[in-house]
This record gives sequence, structure tokens and C-alpha cells, in this order.
Amino acid sequence: MRQQPGVLIVEDESAIAELIAVNLRHNGFRPTWAMDSATAQRELDAVLPDVILLDWMLPGESGLTLAKRWRANPRTKAVPIIMLTARGDETDRVAGLDAGADDYIVKPFSTKELLARVRAVLRRRAPEQVGGIVAVGALSLDSATYRVSFDAQMLKLGPTEFKLLHYLMTHAERVHSRAQLLDKVWGDHVFIEERTVDVHVKRLREAMGPEAGQMIETVRGAGYRLTAHCASAQPALRT
Ligand code: CA
Repeated sequence: MRQQPGVLIVEDESAIAELIAVNLRHNGFRPTWAMDSATAQRELDAVLPDVILLDWMLPGESGLTLAKRWRANPRTKAVPIIMLTARGDETDRVAGLDAGADDYIVKPFSTKELLARVRAVLRRRAPEQVGGIVAVGALSLDSATYRVSFDAQMLKLGPTEFKLLHYLMTHAERVHSRAQLLDKVWGDHVFIEERTVDVHVKRLREAMGPEAGQMIETVRGAGYRLTAHCASAQPALRT
């Protein structure tokens, strides 16, 4: 029998946490609730959940601080985080994604939307099993072992960045629009804005480092392309 996915709810408002927990339980999830950062950390140390729902405004340490810490920790870095936030403006949402969140939900939200987003991050975490190693230039990705290297140097990527890079590498030298990337990499873009793609591309480039990062080109007005021949590393084209 398939195990029910565990969801850690980090939320100080008990009414909201309870509403979320009840809905998750009714829909086949195993929710646990932590009302502050210390409890959340204890829960994480004990059992790794499949998804973390993380409130931004918590007493003591903020959700943003927690997201950053959990992303930096090798044990928790692959667990998808959905930020719950009352802050709707774009700067805040981008700050949440930059801190390592996979998605965010603006309060007040419907439980239907919440469930859809939880399912979407779980789907996204299960990568397309193409198997084998993909190589573009000095960049190499092994989808079986989740290893990415550039010039034999290992790169550390988050789960979404890995999937994004995998897609770009298996469809290299082609330009992909943000909408296409959302469709192919995220799979369920109903609630995700195209700006999310930019955030993850930025994060991916940073993780790849200055040299390999140049392989991902921004094509003005069109989208992104992964190329083995970076413009900046290449002499002028002769025609
Ligand atoms: Ca709160």
C-alpha cells in the first residue's frame, strides 16, 4: 500500500492550522502541526515530511529564515516548501522563492487551491524518468543519481532547478518560452506566474556558477535556451 504523504504545517494560528490539517487528512495526507520554529525543527529532526507548509509570519524566527535554513541543510534541502503568506506583493513573493520556497499561497486561500498546490509540488518532485546521462558541452546530468557536474566539478541544485536543467538539457539549443517551461517543468501552472520561471532560472544559474551559468541564455522577448556555445565565451561568428 502506498504511504500517505506527510505534510508538516508550520503555522502559529491554530484555527488556520486546524482547517488545513482537517482538509489534508480528508484528502489522504498525513498532517503534523508545529506552531513555532523550535517545534517545527524538532518535527523535522524526527521525521522528514513530503511537503512543508510554512507560514511567513511566525513568532520568533520568520518563515523566510526557516526556509533559508532548511534549504541550506543537506537533510532537508529537497523537501518542497510552500510559503503561506498574507503578503501579496511581488517583492515579497519573490523573496519567498529566493529563500528556497517552491511555491507560495497568499492568505486567505481556499482549501481547494491549497490541495492543488500540495499535489503539484509532489508531482513536480517525481522527475521524468528518462534514465541515463545527458551531456551538453562540459555539462553532464545523471537523472538516475541526481548528479550534475560541469567540467567534472559537482554542482548542487535544488529539486526544481534540477528538473528545469534536465528539461533544458534534453531540449538544448532551442528557445523555450516561460509558458512552455511552466508547462513542461512544473506540469501544473494554473497557479504559478511566469515570473516564477525567472526566479528559478536565476537560482539555477547561481548554482551552476559563473562559467556554466552562461550556458543558459536569456532570449529577449522569447524565453530561455541552454546552449553548449555561450555567446560570451565564443569568438565572433563568421558568416
Ligand atoms: Ca502567522
